[in-house]
Amino acid sequence: MPVPKAELHLHIEGTLEPELAFALAARNGVTLPYADTEELRRAYRFSDLQSFLDLYYGLMAVLRTADDFTELADAYLERAAAQGVRHAEIFFDPQAHTARGIGIGTVIEGLGASLERSEERYGISTRLILCFLRDESAESALATLEAAKPYLDRITGVGLDSAEVGHPPAKFREVYEAAGALGLRKVAHAGEEGPAAYVREALDVLGVERIDHGLRCMEDPELVDRLARERVPLTLCPLSNVRLRVIDTLADHPLPAMMAAGLLVTVNSDDPAYFGGYAGDNFDGVREALGLGPEQLRELARNSFTASFLDDDEPRRARYLAEVDAYAFDGERG
Ligand SMILES: [Zn+2]
Repeated sequence: MPVPKAELHLHIEGTLEPELAFALAARNGVTLPYADTEELRRAYRFSDLQSFLDLYYGLMAVLRTADDFTELADAYLERAAAQGVRHAEIFFDPQAHTARGIGIGTVIEGLGASLERSEERYGISTRLILCFLRDESAESALATLEAAKPYLDRITGVGLDSAEVGHPPAKFREVYEAAGALGLRKVAHAGEEGPAAYVREALDVLGVERIDHGLRCMEDPELVDRLARERVPLTLCPLSNVRLRVIDTLADHPLPAMMAAGLLVTVNSDDPAYFGGYAGDNFDGVREALGLGPEQLRELARNSFTASFLDDDEPRRARYLAEVDAYAFDGERG
């Protein structure tokens, strides 16, 4: 069994495997522009973030009913459980669905039906994080938060994702203030394709508690010192970084340098159906490519629970950490 871990950077729409995409397309009468799952799999080759996003949003057309979202989440949780995930904080993009005429309630109720039985069925505790699309307007983000208000008991926090460059965090100051006033936790993607300055802005202007990706902070030593000192978690996604050409190969990943700098980094899968692997695959990838030893893998696993939004006094956090401490690495799998 792989080491117990929390997954903190996972877009549920990015777990749509070709087989499920075709099954949902058939059920919902949607015609996909691919002959079969093999042709679709071949389309999962990207040159950059934008080319990935074009396919990603195109395929979402197959998600129409609450049951579709329930099946999507169930399929993810089953795969994640097999890779050692014990706690998952799951992103979803309401605007990608409301823009297609799917109500936010359909999305949240559908995901919720899966998540509420996840612990019993898959042994995975969950949180749901509503993400705003940063290439949409600030007004659209505010309208999305407003539409989510009847469902806040199911939502732990807000995040910010999609095309980063040209859409600095400050654009979303108002909606993050509103989210904070509602008691929601705050995270944001920053410093993936965008500059280190976006990481600072996410911290200072949006007041986020975690940075998603953030690897370009390494270009700014003062920022690195601050992130280490303030123990700001960075949710890294190594296989995603290679697939989206943020780095050339896994062996080039700054993960070891980030750990050496004292940063609280975690390893996650981002959009695993598209990027070649789930959470355990990402652990295996960095272990092999970067030569990480058992103690570094243990630190990454511990970090994932430490950086989670599990309450400090929640017994689960201590239980998960104890499981990590007791885990015997056999050199085979992370
Ligand atoms: Zn992401």
